[in-house]
Amino acid sequence: MSTIDRHSTAQLIDGKAIAAKVHAEVRAEVAALRSQGLTPCLAVVLAGDDPASAIYVRNKVRACEATGVQSVSHVLPATTTTRELIALVDRLAADPAVHGILVQLPLPPGCDTDAVLACVPPAKDVDGFHPANLGALAIGTPALVACTPAGVMRLLAETDTPLDGARAVVLGRSRIVGRPMALLLLNANATVTVCHSRTRALADELRRADVVVAAIGRPRFVQGDWIRPGATVIDVGMNRLPDGTLCGDVDFDAVRAHARALTPVPGGVGPMTIAMLLSNTVRAARAQATTEARPR
Ligand code: NAP
Repeated sequence: MSTIDRHSTAQLIDGKAIAAKVHAEVRAEVAALRSQGLTPCLAVVLAGDDPASAIYVRNKVRACEATGVQSVSHVLPATTTTRELIALVDRLAADPAVHGILVQLPLPPGCDTDAVLACVPPAKDVDGFHPANLGALAIGTPALVACTPAGVMRLLAETDTPLDGARAVVLGRSRIVGRPMALLLLNANATVTVCHSRTRALADELRRADVVVAAIGRPRFVQGDWIRPGATVIDVGMNRLPDGTLCGDVDFDAVRAHARALTPVPGGVGPMTIAMLLSNTVRAARAQATTEARPR
């Protein structure tokens, strides 16, 4: 299946097709591990009644089912306390049958998100949010990497985007997207600039970029004339417009006229996030099995 639509001005990067490829890889790896008696298992913790979170969790559980990864959901009421969440995460951390723990964010108001996430052991941190995993990425020895930036790297690889020596601009510096994204690009030998809400002359920074990754949560913020002709543009943004439709952080039609390749929203980065979660779960299961088998 082609992952690029070559009929448009910019090549459209087909995240659905690339995610399907990752799913197929995961399915094959899971089948091989199962035949050796190891079933990768993801525990999902959902607290509260945020409808979007419930949909995300449902999609993750379905993706597990489709690839043979076992999933166990723990659904808790909005009244759940930090202490109760930590007790659950501690139980999952100690359970040898659970290889990955995903705490769906946001947690209910009043819960201490950092305290809960800190209880997920780095080896089971399939979201890659734990400071130990971010630190490993920062020193260039990544273990479990945050799913969305990992998915962006796969999109760049699948579209043969040169990164060695390339100028890359990451728009946004959040813990879950912008920061790990910048570190991954740096580890791939790109020259990386990180822009954020205090950046001066932001358009000028973008105009120098061979690769742009936009992750700010501002609908259609990135303009066409900010993009250097031939640049690759990855739009992580997922913004719900008043009419209910989704759009990215990039002005798609305008940027399409300038870029070499561009991700659509939806159908670009979104499908990759779940695909990389599955991939991380398999990686975690394999690493834990190896550690257990090692003589002490
Ligand atoms: P976030 O935590 O709100 O961080 C937003 C970042 O953008 C911050 O670093 C902020 O700068 C920066 N920013 C905001 N307005 C800006 C502006 N006008 N100019 C320059 N920088 C600006 O958001 P996030 O969690 O990283 O998510 C970003 C977007 O990606 C959202 O649309 C989210 O829905 C989407 N997302 C998609 C996926 C997926 O699977 N496709 C996954 C995760 C997130 P400061 O640090 O200075 O405040």
